[in-house]
Amino acid sequence: MAPSDPVSRTEPSTDRNVKHVVLGDLLFPTWYQSIYPEDLVNKDTDRLYVCRWCFRYSCDVHAYAQHTQLCQHRTTPPGTKVYDHGGYSVWELDGECHKLYAQNLSLFAKLFLDHKSVFFDVVSFLYYLLVFTDPNDPENYYVLGFFSKEKLSWDANNLACILVFPPYQHKQLGKLLMGVSYKISSWESDSGLIGGPERPLSEMGHRSYTRFWQERIARYLLLQTGKPKEAEASGSVPLKQKSPKAPKRKHTHELMTVQDIGLATGMLTEDVVTALQGLGAVEPATPAKKRRTKDSSAEAGLGADEPLLVRKSKILEWAKSHHMALQDPVRDEGFLGKWAPVDSTEESEVDSDDVDEDDG
Ligand SMILES: [Zn+2]
Repeated sequence: MAPSDPVSRTEPSTDRNVKHVVLGDLLFPTWYQSIYPEDLVNKDTDRLYVCRWCFRYSCDVHAYAQHTQLCQHRTTPPGTKVYDHGGYSVWELDGECHKLYAQNLSLFAKLFLDHKSVFFDVVSFLYYLLVFTDPNDPENYYVLGFFSKEKLSWDANNLACILVFPPYQHKQLGKLLMGVSYKISSWESDSGLIGGPERPLSEMGHRSYTRFWQERIARYLLLQTGKPKEAEASGSVPLKQKSPKAPKRKHTHELMTVQDIGLATGMLTEDVVTALQGLGAVEPATPAKKRRTKDSSAEAGLGADEPLLVRKSKILEWAKSHHMALQDPVRDEGFLGKWAPVDSTEESEVDSDDVDEDDG
């Protein structure tokens, strides 16, 4: 029942100003009201033509056709490519440098998002476009969705808004975008705070994220190598974190805390707890009556710093029954520029200042 991509829904709301959109050669219904200027888009527009490269819009099919001949983004998306693997790439663009593009993208996205406020303050946001390029047709590219992120987030939010366009949903692409958002979070890049998506999450967003977090943790727990028996025999939590980066080395035990898992996966404690509840593979290692309860995770009976017993066989069961691929859909080797894995840049290190310059 739960869709795997963010913001899937079935019943369009009735008060939409635009009923359908034509995006490239795709025609599909909209879900919500957007705030296109009324002088350009009538209150009751059946078809809005939207450029699939730059998201400019028109009610007039001829104007639209003319534009697509001349669109400046016909051959390449705006911004800087930060990820590229298996035909899928992610392009980062600054709302301040690409204001019109970001506004048009936001207007289009609003047709499928039930948020009250539309992110018109595009200059404070970065946008990450998910792009597909068919290897047999490299001149042609498709924008499949995007996420936005506040440039300066006091809560270390790694994502503000996410959308996979309706024709491309149910292909696990939301997970790809979420994975990228964690990878390029401040925690990963400069040992900043661990964050997560901006709250509150919609019901659908919560469902999508819960599944994403479960898979993220399941992969981490299954793929770590180690000597679980030693840890079990010691009966205590073997690792105490000194710095947030330390736990990125593979753990070697099956006894760990919510905090351990959070630090290792770059996830907030509360999100780890949400995920663990559904995995059914962990239980407190200390008898219930001896446990201290504190912080928000106590609700779940899981204290952030209490040892948990992790049962890998149960996780494997969960992974199988949920058809989870063991390999993360986001590949480290796909990241480019300052996000590239350290060992793949070798001597020819890319200077991050050179990467995000002047793309027109
Ligand atoms: Zn265009």
